[in-house]
Formats: sequence, structure tokens, C-alpha cells
Amino acid sequence: MQVPTSQNKSSKSSESVNTKIPDKFVYFFAAGEADGNAGMKSILGGKGANLAEMTALGLPVPPGFTISTEICTHFFANGGQLPEWVRPKVKEALARVESKMGKKFGDVKDPLLFSIRSGARASMPGMMDTILNLGLNDQTVEGLAQSSNQPRFAWDSYRRFIQMYSDVVLGMNSTLLEVTLEDLKEEKKYKLDTELTVEDLKILVKKFKDLVHQMTGQVFPADPWDQLWRAISAVFSSWDTPRAITYRELHHIPSSWGTAVNVQSMVFGNRGDDSATGVAFTRDPSTGNKEFFGEYLINAQGEDVVAGIRTPQPITKLAAEKTPFKSLEEVMPLAYAELEKFYTQLERHYRDMQDIEFTIEKGKLWMLQTRTGKRTAKAALKMACDMLDEKLISEEESLLRIDPSSLDQLLHPTLDPQSAKTMLAKGLPASPGGVHGQIVFSSEEAVEWKEKGKKVILVRIETSPEDIAGMVAAQGILTTRGGMTSHAAVVARGMGKCCVAGCGDMEVDYRNQTMKAKGYVLKKGDIITLDGSSGEVYLGEVKTIEPSLDQNFERIMKVADHIRRLKVRTNADTPKDASTARGFGAEGIGLCRTEHMFFGPDRIDAMREMIIADNKTDREKALLKLLPMQKSDFYSLFKIMEGFPVTIRLLDPPLHEFVPHGDKETQELSVRIGMDFEKLKAKIKNLHEFNPMLGHRGCRLAITYPEIYQMQVRAIAEAVCDLIKEGKSISPEIMIPLVALEKELEVLRELTVHEIEKVQRERSIKFKYTVGTMIELPRAAIMAESIAEYADFFSFGTNDLTQTTLGLSRDDAGRFLGSYVSQGLFAKDPFVSIDKKGVGALVKMGVELGRRAKPDLKTGVCGEHGGDPESIEFFHQVGLDYVSCSPYRVPIARLAAARAQLLSKRERVLVL
Ligand code: PEP
Ligand code: MG
Repeated sequence: MQVPTSQNKSSKSSESVNTKIPDKFVYFFAAGEADGNAGMKSILGGKGANLAEMTALGLPVPPGFTISTEICTHFFANGGQLPEWVRPKVKEALARVESKMGKKFGDVKDPLLFSIRSGARASMPGMMDTILNLGLNDQTVEGLAQSSNQPRFAWDSYRRFIQMYSDVVLGMNSTLLEVTLEDLKEEKKYKLDTELTVEDLKILVKKFKDLVHQMTGQVFPADPWDQLWRAISAVFSSWDTPRAITYRELHHIPSSWGTAVNVQSMVFGNRGDDSATGVAFTRDPSTGNKEFFGEYLINAQGEDVVAGIRTPQPITKLAAEKTPFKSLEEVMPLAYAELEKFYTQLERHYRDMQDIEFTIEKGKLWMLQTRTGKRTAKAALKMACDMLDEKLISEEESLLRIDPSSLDQLLHPTLDPQSAKTMLAKGLPASPGGVHGQIVFSSEEAVEWKEKGKKVILVRIETSPEDIAGMVAAQGILTTRGGMTSHAAVVARGMGKCCVAGCGDMEVDYRNQTMKAKGYVLKKGDIITLDGSSGEVYLGEVKTIEPSLDQNFERIMKVADHIRRLKVRTNADTPKDASTARGFGAEGIGLCRTEHMFFGPDRIDAMREMIIADNKTDREKALLKLLPMQKSDFYSLFKIMEGFPVTIRLLDPPLHEFVPHGDKETQELSVRIGMDFEKLKAKIKNLHEFNPMLGHRGCRLAITYPEIYQMQVRAIAEAVCDLIKEGKSISPEIMIPLVALEKELEVLRELTVHEIEKVQRERSIKFKYTVGTMIELPRAAIMAESIAEYADFFSFGTNDLTQTTLGLSRDDAGRFLGSYVSQGLFAKDPFVSIDKKGVGALVKMGVELGRRAKPDLKTGVCGEHGGDPESIEFFHQVGLDYVSCSPYRVPIARLAAARAQLLSKRERVLVL
């Protein structure tokens, strides 16, 4: 277990964190009065902060109090025990709730009950624990039965409490109690839990308590205060369960944040048919449509909706039309009207789509939660555009509403409507996209199969937070139970993963590892296709088509382009990549890796002949074969990118990457090029390097074999001349990789200029060009001032710069980097998101020193970090001119660049 450290103090030693008692750590809220507000998420957690805000807004929120996240830190520092000094403050706050409610905790006549809920700064749906109906025991249950005049409700609450408490607090396997309940239902021939009578519930309570005793050796705690202290501790502990840790890692939530604990008086949705509980979104989180969207259950408690035990019903009449159910709008029109009023108020207040939880107790509506709702990327764009039109938000805010990485979801394929398909079943369209894969029935297998390189669809009756690793590994998720707000749906949407939920037409048999639908029996390993946008499930693999982006996307991109300062280019080596990237708005090519052009079957032999040539003459002969091929490649790229800059990087990888490795291939090559097999083999062996990444590669190749770069430069120059003749305007940027020494660049710049001028003379054509270098070695960053003398531009190759600065092999570090991230040594994989303090400092230094020598030196980045939103923010801050990334990340980079501009403006305002 990791012990979180305080996030709120700049403590130098853990001791000072652990001993300093915060001045205030219990925040009360009731009837229009609240100690906290929505801005206090770091202390109160999201749930606590919003409960305070809703209370202050005058919404009907059950009274309660929040124990701050700081206490979570103290809890772990105190060995997983609640510090004694916390108790008096909790007792004081609880007494205030008692007086507001006019009821007493533990009162045997009319007991006040509580819910105990977690609530971290960032929402972690379902990852931590909740306990409802706390305060019930054999005496208080009778009091509740009498005061409510509803014995069934009282005993139903009691059995629920024991179930939750023994799972969350006593750590018992909850299936045991569930099985007991199911057995009783079967015996009595009941279908629903609501059919259980008071007598049944009494029997269940007794059986549950006996089982708890049997399994844990403990008597189920009867003292309400004992129940409370242990529940608070359990909720704090749930911050560090494996599933919460996995979720945090996935969403980059620091372990130091901790959770708050909300203790709130209970309101009951299980008091009969005039009571209900539900969850709702102020707009549709899947499409973004301005339609109140949600689900509710009559005579139920909150957990029933999310757990998918009963199928929830739609809230609005409109949504219910397509189902056999009656909507809340029809069943409880008054409560619905009030709910509608509150959601409108909340959305206007927060100026964003809200995800709401509510309970109706005997016709009275209570608001239990509000938070900014998770949404698909498509929905995020639609909502941002609609809210712009509604004048609810400004253009700048509209960009801040969209997570750049989520745009990835829009850029993925969907199913081809023209292709023949066999539909197996239809469930709920929980998270969009079209994917296929082999069926697996467990998360463990999803992870194992993925590691073997297989594509899998995780099929479950329902998912639970334990399934998170399997959901990450799968292409898509299919569940047979649960609604649009079930765990599978919420989590998949957050991950941007295709998901079909609640597919009741389908029967899953874990024991036999089969899935049945429409007379088909599918086994583990069989292929299915999911359509997360329609909820349909198909047999076998269905063809997909590339996504088309809608007008909301175009509109938001336009707003982003208007705001951003950083230019966005693409890394592209083929005409296809270049056109795709242009379509996504790339403003040129920032990196064309020319080596990728040599792997085609028609080229590789010529390349190999060049590599193994005995002398310069033979090498030049082979290069001459490559020249026209390179020239035509460059011609196409320049043409697609006409009017935009194109950076061509000269050959970079070690030569041995191009030669065959096995005897069979070597033998075949020896025949094709007419060279003795043994001689060829010896030559290939000779190219072997122990550390090729630090070996004979990059500009070092041209220091030894200048004719390679000469050929490439000639190909570039001739392609430009051909295009200029056709009336196009092209100005290439030629880039020399892996420079460490100023002298390397001086020599190779001269070679480049010499060859271009030669072609220009031969063709009697003049064109503009620039010669620059990559900064991908620490020495190059340190010596940037001298290097800039020979460079018209710098492009930071942050892949190699990360590798060489950290001394971490980019090919091998994957094996252990995961542990570095999970143990918090790196917040994120440094090959994904730039290590700002280390590698970033070299980038900053490189820019500053380079511009010292040449104030108008153009600077950019072309490592993978060029498509990572967090890194883009950093590149903006250090003043780069452009980022370059893979074609599909161009829109992400455009948005991230604009957000970086907005955020830096905000910071400036704050500093001023
Ligand atoms: C880099 O090192 O960041 C880079 C872009 O070059 P490559 O990945 O081709 O080594
Ligand atoms: Mg590199």
C-alpha cells in the first residue's frame, strides 16, 4: 500500500504532514447553509464540494457533513486508523444534523440513519465504497418500522445495510449473502426483490447475521457509533484498493489526493411505489443532444440503479416511447417537474452538462449529487457548440470543455453500413465505435490474450470495478445486464472504448464459456463485432469505414485555429499519411522519415546493395537505382503539401536494420544480387552493433558515406525543380539527424548546399530551401548556440532526446517503465508525456541558446510528444513555433495548442 502524502502543504518531511492537525476538517451543510462550496474540491472532494454548493443554492439536499481529504492523509499516516482527534468534531457535526432533522442517531423510536460515501477530487465512478442505511440494528429497525409505519421498508433497509456493511467494512465475500437472497426468492418463486415480505426479510436478516458470524468470527456490530467509525475508516481505506489504484493510474490521479468522506442523513427511495431513485444527465452524454436523459427505479435505493440488478426505466416520456416502460414524467409528474427545474438551474449555474443523482421519498424530491458529466467526444463537441449558440459559454470556454485526447474517439472507424452482416443481438449503445475481436469471458483472459497480440471483446454479464484491466485490454465491451449508467457504460465511455451494455437478448454461460443468441452458440475465441453507436452485435468481423467528422468538429477546430499560436504539422512518410493529415488540418510535414521509403519490395534490394557495397563506386551505383524512387516519393509529398513547409529528414537508422537476418533470406539475396553467400553473410555480420541506437546512425552515416545524403538531397532538389516547372511553389526543409557536434552539421550543411546548387545550376532553376537539424542528443541542446550557426531550424527529436537524457532505451524500457509509473517515480511514461523537468529543461535550453545565436531560428518538435496534450502545453510555454505529430493526432494537437494558449493567458492574468 502506498501511503499518500499531504497535497495541501509544502511539507519538507512526512512528520510535519502527519502531526499538523488542520484547523478545520469537518464541513457542515444543511438547509441553505454550507461551510464549503464548489471551488473546494481539493479539500471536500467533488461530491462534498457540490453537495455544499447545491445546499447553498437552496436545493433540497439531505443535511450532512464532509470529512476533508486531509484526514485521508492522516488516516494512512496513522497506520490506517482514524486519529482520535477527528472524533469530537464528527460528533459535533452529527449533533447539528440531528437537530436539523429533529431525530437522533441510534434512537430506538425514530432513528436517524446515515449514508457514508467517498468522494475524491476527481470523479472515480464506482471505484470506492459507499454504505447506506447506517444506524440500523435489531432495536432501531423496529423504531423505523413504527415511525414510518412501513415495516417492510424498515426491514428491507436493514437487510441492505447488512449486505453492504459486511462487504465494505467487514471484507466479506458479498456473493454469499446474495446467494442466500436468491435462494429464498427461488424457494418462494419470487422474481423481484420487491416481492420479499417482512417475514422473508426478517429471516434474511437473521441468516445474514449468522453468515457474517460464521465467515468473519465477528458478531455484526449493533452499536450505531461503532458502525459509524468503522464505516468512515472503511471508506478512507477504499482509496487504496487495487481497483482504485488501477483507476488512478489510468486517469493520472495522484495517490496523494486522498478521498473525502461524506456523512449524510438518509432519504429513502425504497419506501414504496411513491418513492424512487435515479441518475440523470442534463443532456444526452452519448450524442450531446439537448435532452434530459436518465434512468430511475421505483421503490429502490441508489445502488440498484448503478449495479444493474433491475432494468432501470427512462425518465422522460420521449425516451420511454421506445420502451415498454413508463417514464418518471408520467408516473410522478410533480417530482419530475421539480427535477426538471433543478437540472436547468444546475446546468445554468455550472455552465456545463451535469450528472445528477436523486431520490424521491414519498413524493418528495431530494438531490444527492451533481457533477460535471462524462461524455463522448461527439457529445462534448455538440454540447460545446450548442452552449455557444445558447450564449451559455464563450468561445474560449468551449475549447476548455473538450478534452483534446478524447477526440481520438471521433477519428476511429465505424461499421460499414453497406457490408453484409448477421445480427446476433441488440443492446444499449453505451459508447460509440465499431470494433471486432475474439470473445473472452474474463478480464484476466482479456489481458492475457491482448499480451499475445490478439484483439478481444470482453463479454460479461455485468462488469465491476475489478474488470478495469480487462476493459483496458479489450477492443470493446459487451454486457448482458445493466443500463446506460451501469459500470460498464460509464467506464467505457470515459475510456473512449466501444461498449454495448444491457444486451438482454444474449445469454452468457461462464461455466461452459459460451454465449447464446438467436440460436447461435458462440465459444471463447469466436469473433464478433460490436457497434457501440447502435448497440448492435454481429457475428464475425464486419468491415469498418473511416470516420467522417461533423460540423461541430469543424467549428471547434476553427475556433481552436483562431486562438492557437503553435503551428501543427504532421509526421508523414507516405502520400496516404500526408493526405490524411491534410484532411485533419496539418499545416505541413514536420518529419518525413526517409528510411521508411526504402522498405518496399521494389526498393529494399537496391538499398541492400548500397549498404554492402565494397567501395564508393559500387555504393554510388546502387544509390543511382534509389534516386528516381526517392525523387518520386518527394514529388508526391511536396505536391500534397503545396504551400506548406515539408521537412525531409535524411537517412537516420543504423544500416543493419535494412539487411536480412536469417540464412534463408541472405541466401536468396545473394542469388538476386549475384554475391557469394558466405561473403554476404560476413558483410552482414560486420554491420552488427552492440548498441545500435548509439552507434553508426544519423548524421554519422553521412560523415562516413556522404554519397548517401548526396543522393537524397539530389532527389529532393530534382523533385522540387520538377514541381516548380509545373508552376508550383515549393520550399523544402532539409533536416540532418542525430547531430552532437557543431562540426558534423557544418560539414553536412556544406554537402547539402553544394548538391542543391549543383542541381539548380543543371536545371537553371532557383528555389528557396532551408537546412536544419534535429536536437536529439543532450550535447546538441547544450551546444545549441554554436550549432545554430549552421542551422536554419531546430526540430527537437524528443524520442531520442528522452532516451539519451534519461539513459533509457526506447526499445527496452517498456519492460520496467510500468513499475516506475505505478510507484509514482514517473507521473506518466516519459516517452508519452515529456519529462518537463529533465528532458524539457534541455528543450528550453536548446530554444534559448539557439535563438541567442539566431533570433529568428525556427523551432519545432517531431518526437511522439508532439501529439500529447500535456507536452504540447509545455512546448507552447517554451516558445516553440510548431509541433509535429502522427496524422490522427493532428486535431488533438490543434485543440491542445489552443488550450495551451488560453491557459497561459489565464496564468498571466493570475500572476498580474
Ligand atoms: C525523435 O527521436 O524524436 C525522432 C522524431 O526521431 P525517431 O523517432 O525517428 O528517432
Ligand atoms: Mg530520433
